[in-house]
Amino acid sequence: MIARSDALAAMDGEPFDVVVVGGGITGAGVALDAASRGYSVALAERADFASGTSSRSSKLVHGGLRYLQNFDLGLVREALLERQLMVSLAPHLVTPLPLVVAAFDGARPDRLTGVGLNLYDVMARERRRGRRGANGAEWSPDRHRTIPGEEVVELLPALAAREPTGGYLFYDCQTDDSRLVLTVLAEAERFGAVCANRLEVTGLHEEASRAAGVHVRDLLGGGAFTVRADNVVNATGVWADRLRPHELHDEAEVPRIRPSRGTHLTVRHDDLPLVGGAIVPAGDGRTIFALPWLGRTLLGTTDKDYEGDLDHVRAADDDVDYLLEAANAFFGTDLGPPDLTGAYAGVRPLITTGDPHKSVDISRKAELYETSSGMVTITGGKLTTWRRMAKMAVDRLVE
Ligand SMILES: Cc1cc2nc3c(=O)[nH]c(=O)nc-3n(C[C@H](O)[C@H](O)[C@H](O)COP(=O)(O)OP(=O)(O)OC[C@H]3O[C@@H](n4cnc5c(N)ncnc54)[C@H](O)[C@@H]3O)c2cc1C
Repeated sequence: MIARSDALAAMDGEPFDVVVVGGGITGAGVALDAASRGYSVALAERADFASGTSSRSSKLVHGGLRYLQNFDLGLVREALLERQLMVSLAPHLVTPLPLVVAAFDGARPDRLTGVGLNLYDVMARERRRGRRGANGAEWSPDRHRTIPGEEVVELLPALAAREPTGGYLFYDCQTDDSRLVLTVLAEAERFGAVCANRLEVTGLHEEASRAAGVHVRDLLGGGAFTVRADNVVNATGVWADRLRPHELHDEAEVPRIRPSRGTHLTVRHDDLPLVGGAIVPAGDGRTIFALPWLGRTLLGTTDKDYEGDLDHVRAADDDVDYLLEAANAFFGTDLGPPDLTGAYAGVRPLITTGDPHKSVDISRKAELYETSSGMVTITGGKLTTWRRMAKMAVDRLVE
């Protein structure tokens, strides 16, 4: 990426077509989409690139099998197409991962899951028809299938002691979320975008009551200046309604953000050895993932209302207990907090209209709104669907 000092000098100079606030996957995607369409783009990130929710995910590029439970078919289909594209466009970053739903004591694997997996197969295939990767080849996930207990143990050695008798095998993809963001930012720079971290946007610069740029503060070198731009895109994720609270909150159609915390844990591979991923029951019909991750095992996630400091989200003790309990019950282990090699938590933006009965979860659906100053805010969505969100936002600017 270009030197930060050069990026700051450029931002303090000529006006841009677009200034993007936020250097997570959404902001990075918007910068790349706009720059590749020929617009001049500046991007300001207050902390480090990808330091928000975009580095605290489950690291999956997936359709989201569990969203089928809510009949969110459009979202799953869209995410499956994106999964297919990502694995073709960035095979060094997005790799297929076998996942297993295990069954025990000779029981058939859960039928409802089987129905969901059939739908997953159909949607993945339907969207792939006629599409080919750049080199003519493309990753093709096998249809899900029932596998015997021995194959379950090959993929999930941690389950050996429980002697699973069978299971479903299906495929999704895994990525390194932070690297994905950095790669998209670097690609945006290749198309001429200038991006700077430790550069906080403190407010909108307006001309004739219209957004005409942003005021920024250099958190490393000190000092403040204005980045002038014809369009402002607010891609600050869970912080989206902090940038311009009165504008966002006074406009009735714009929802408020209600953060929800998701925690992940890591343990040593030897304590919970996995080759593929496992869908682990976690009570009340919920499931968590157990995934092989950089030589360790990743357990997550939780989903809890969060009212604490958004800038310092910690893995709470009750989240840790919940995840360890689910993992211990499933794998027949006795892991405790001293066995953890790491823990992290991130926040999803949920929206609420203020009426507790009308609260809607937008964490997986992208939400785009333009407020009276002309600022375009894009939030929600998934890591997997970043390209779609970027296109939505830039299409709105072009309109
Ligand atoms: C626990 C959890 C697990 C998840 N797992 C998955 C998964 O496996 N697969 C998947 O597809 N999706 C997953 N998601 C969803 C995905 O992680 C998010 O949708 C995505 O990362 C959001 O990216 P973003 O760029 O919108 O937000 P963020 O990554 O939070 O980026 C916003 C950025 O804006 C910056 N910012 C804020 N205010 C300012 C300001 N004033 N000036 C400048 N910069 C500012 C912040 O520092 C931050 O870096 C998960 C989400 C959670 C919470």
